[in-house]
Formats: sequence, structure tokens, C-alpha cells
Amino acid sequence: MPRTVALKSGLNNSNRDQAELAKFSQLAHRWWDTESEFKPLHDLNPHRLAWIEAHAPLSGQRVLDVGCGGGILSESMARQGAHVTGIDLAEKPLGVARLHAIEAEIDVTYRCLAVEDLAAEQPQQFDRVTCMEMLEHVPDPASVIQACATLVKPGGMVFFSTLNRNLKSYLMAILGAEYLLRLLPRGTHDYGRFIKPSELARWARQSQLDVVHIEGVHYHPVTRHYHLGPGADVNYLMACRLSPC
Ligand code: SAH
Repeated sequence: MPRTVALKSGLNNSNRDQAELAKFSQLAHRWWDTESEFKPLHDLNPHRLAWIEAHAPLSGQRVLDVGCGGGILSESMARQGAHVTGIDLAEKPLGVARLHAIEAEIDVTYRCLAVEDLAAEQPQQFDRVTCMEMLEHVPDPASVIQACATLVKPGGMVFFSTLNRNLKSYLMAILGAEYLLRLLPRGTHDYGRFIKPSELARWARQSQLDVVHIEGVHYHPVTRHYHLGPGADVNYLMACRLSPC
């Protein structure tokens, strides 16, 4: 039986920031341009996909991608043989995602829906849930994490990625990425919404998710390449498993 949780279903307007959603909608037409503002996501994607696969093979699995945007991760997981549903609250990126999937002849279901509402609709229906580069854009990340935990099957895995909050992450992710290297448009990130791994882990545990692994995401400004490895000072990934009972 689905566990009973205090979800914010019915209050789905509360956990969104319209200004954040508008920012992503404005840029949506460039989502699949690998030299655009979304270059970092395109460059990072093969690494995070391989990391997810290493924890939990995707082929044949029912996967939910929360905050899927234009579908970079969703499509790549579908190519690995997963049955992917992508949800987001910004309509334009979802429109781009739908068109791109048709052109690429990839089967992904995209829905404009709050994760809290999907959790009320389909508890424990997904083998894996991914929620990448999204938590730092929502007013109440703990509510998103709780909903992800409700959506995954017992023993299933949830994968998060976000930005740590400290001086180094401010220098690298805001000053470096937005002002010096101009990898991202100014104002993409709000330092106050960055999330320490200890905070993310605490919210995960409160939702019955066991933290399995934390991995740092590193960007080399000279080679302009990403790699994964120890050190969660700036960007990081967190793999969690829902307790089996
Ligand atoms: N996860 C994707 C896109 C990251 S960009 C990837 O890593 O490739 C952040 C995405 O989060 C945007 O598409 C934005 O519209 C979405 N988002 C922001 N607030 C949201 C919310 N409250 N609910 C669902 N999606 C949200």
C-alpha cells in the first residue's frame, strides 16, 4: 500500500516561482542548441546519464524526470530503453521537448504537472525518479523531495542534482559561470536557493530515502570539460534509495 504522506496536493500553485518558470520559457527555443545557454546541460548529460546507469540500469524501467525542461535527460534515458515520463511547470520547454522527441523518433510522455500532484495521482509507480538542476529553482525543495519519494517504488532509486551553498560555489557558479565565462545568462541562479548536501540529505531521510552516494560535478574552465569525482563543493549529484518497506 502507498505510504501516507503529507503531500501538498491540491496546493500545487504554491510550490512554484513564476519568475523562474518564465526565465526557462523565454529561452526554450534554444534548448537543443548545443552552443546556447544550455551547453552546460548538453555537455554534462553523458556524464550524469552514465552515473545513473552505473547505479541502476535504465532499460525497461519506468522513469520519471521531474523538471525535465526541453528533455535533454529524458530523451537520453529513453534512448537507453527506459519508459520515460517528463514533467515540468513551464509550458514552452515542454513544447520544445515534445517536438524534439517527435523529430528524434523517441517515445517520451511529457506532462505539465506539479510533482506533488503526480505523487497524489501515481504513488509508487516509478522504478527511478530523476530531479536534476531543478531543486534550486523552487520555493520548497523539501516538498519536491517528498513527492519524488512518494512516486518511486519501494527499493527504487531517486537521483538529484543541485548546487552547494558556500563561498566557492558562489564564486564558481555565479561569478564564474554567469559573469566571467558567460556559460549561463546572468540571474540564472539565486545563491540563497543553493542547497548544502547536508540539507538535501536531511530532507531525503525525512522522506524515507537512504542516501547511497554523493558525487561532485567538476568543470574545467580551460579544457571546458566536465567530469565527475569526489568533492561536492559546487555542483553535485546525490543518489538515494527508498527503503524497501
Ligand atoms: N532537469 C533538466 C532541466 C533543468 S533546468 C536538465 O537537467 O536537463 C530547470 C527546470 O526546472 C526548468 O525546465 C524549469 O522550468 C523547471 N522548474 C522550475 N521550477 C519548477 C517547478 N516548481 N516544478 C517543475 N519544474 C520546475
